[in-house]
Amino acid sequence: MNPEPLIRLEQVALTYPGPPPVPALAPTDLTIHPGEYVTVVGRSGSGKSTLLNILGLIDRPTAGSYLFGGVDTATMSQARRTSLRARRIGLVFQAFHLLSHRTAEENVALGLLYRGVPRGERQQAAREALARVGLGDRTRALPIELSGGERQRVAIARALVGRPALLLCDEPTGNLDSTTAEGVLDLITELHDAGLTVIMITHDRGIAERAQRLVSITDGVLTEQLGRAGTR
Ligand code: ADP
Ligand code: MG
Repeated sequence: MNPEPLIRLEQVALTYPGPPPVPALAPTDLTIHPGEYVTVVGRSGSGKSTLLNILGLIDRPTAGSYLFGGVDTATMSQARRTSLRARRIGLVFQAFHLLSHRTAEENVALGLLYRGVPRGERQQAAREALARVGLGDRTRALPIELSGGERQRVAIARALVGRPALLLCDEPTGNLDSTTAEGVLDLITELHDAGLTVIMITHDRGIAERAQRLVSITDGVLTEQLGRAGTR
């Protein structure tokens, strides 16, 4: 395993200011190496999205240090954090967040908008990313013409189009029936097998156990569990 961690949290915590203040994430140490597949499982309100938003450089922790690829993100300007996120992190949410009047290809190409990639290359990369998620023949479809599972695949393609180092998924199958969810989870496993680092958060223990490494969260406190392979 690569000795340089992709993610290193040291005593990272977040308290929402309130009032009243809500200590959503207790001081947390977490190290994730390139190529890992980690799931974070916990009930509603346990702090999963809070953690994911910190990992995704959306929110800043109120304490501690977060190194991404060895770089300290705490001292970075907002512009540099946004640019780092655009280049290195792909985000997938429960509600697919697709633009309804744009085709699948246009939605995916938007994932490259902040990267200064010329339009033609954006379109080409979008078609390739859609092919990778099994939607190579639906590039012209609007979201309304796609099933829930297909919409989530478009969102995954949008997350992948910039070739991120990390795929962060917040309850990616929360809006899908179980059969469709299986397909999306299989896709995420395939992407991990192809070398992507994946962090997925879920309230569903069965889903969480598909990962190599499982971390549970209760009231903002993380605890390492043994994952499927029991390799640690
Ligand atoms: P989960 O994703 O596991 O359901 P969250 O991370 O969204 O949990 O929330 C953790 C805790 O922080 C909950 O008690 C929630 O009510 C609280 N919380 C989340 N967002 C905010 C916010 N913006 N302001 C205040 N409290 C918040
Ligand atoms: Mg949540």
